[in-house]
Amino acid sequence: MTIALSQFDEVRLDRVSRDFGALNALRDVSLTIRRREFIALLGPSGCGKSTTLNCIAGLLPVTGGAIWLDKQRVDTLRPEERGFGMVFQNYALFPHLNVRQNIGFGLKMRGTPKAEIDRKVDEALSLVRLQGQEHKLPGQLSGGQQQRVAIARAIVIEPPLVLMDEPLSNLDAKLRLEMRAEIRRIHNELGATTIYVTHDQDEALSLADRIVVLRDGVVRQVGSPKELYEEPAHLDVADFMGFRN
Ligand code: ADP
Ligand code: MG
Repeated sequence: MTIALSQFDEVRLDRVSRDFGALNALRDVSLTIRRREFIALLGPSGCGKSTTLNCIAGLLPVTGGAIWLDKQRVDTLRPEERGFGMVFQNYALFPHLNVRQNIGFGLKMRGTPKAEIDRKVDEALSLVRLQGQEHKLPGQLSGGQQQRVAIARAIVIEPPLVLMDEPLSNLDAKLRLEMRAEIRRIHNELGATTIYVTHDQDEALSLADRIVVLRDGVVRQVGSPKELYEEPAHLDVADFMGFRN
């Protein structure tokens, strides 16, 4: 493969906190993500999922704690120095750039030679199954196709970590199921390490190797889908997973 993701053993959040004024949006979040894992951050709206992801990406400074990529401390680095791939709910594509230009944008910014950009973009296009669409503008694509472009753009920079924030929430139910399978396929084919934010327990249970349940800025439980299903550690986890009423 031309796209070769940066390799590492683990990403570690060590008592990460983030305050907004008097609000403790994250409190002492500690978590280790191993290479090639698919991790879901699961919890209701407002529990701190996006804040966690944005702190990892560097879009938001932490107010306490540290984030490590193996032995390198990364919470002090700028987002582009961390080089993580981001996929957002609203796709965040450049409307005036075509599919090929959107996907290659980050590589171009880094000064990657054109022949190499072309090779990598070709591979990303084929990985997300968008061959033939490369000269279209985002506005000419369906929501699912736009999200495929966003995924290709995130992985073409060969990030050690792919971060996705509710990437399927804007899609209708049928496309959501289709893209769910696609996201896991792409993760597997690439050997990526993915942190996937969702408020949808079905999505987390079907996609993730491990699920991190967040509540009010605190990690309530971490486990495989099977572990969470069989042993919800807290009553509110059980509530949230839909086992109590
Ligand atoms: P989630 O993604 O789980 O829905 P967020 O991480 O967006 O939750 O938000 C966690 C908490 O932090 C919420 O109470 C939210 O209102 C608050 N919050 C998030 N971003 C900001 C901000 N920029 N300024 C003030 N409060 C914020
Ligand atoms: Mg959010």
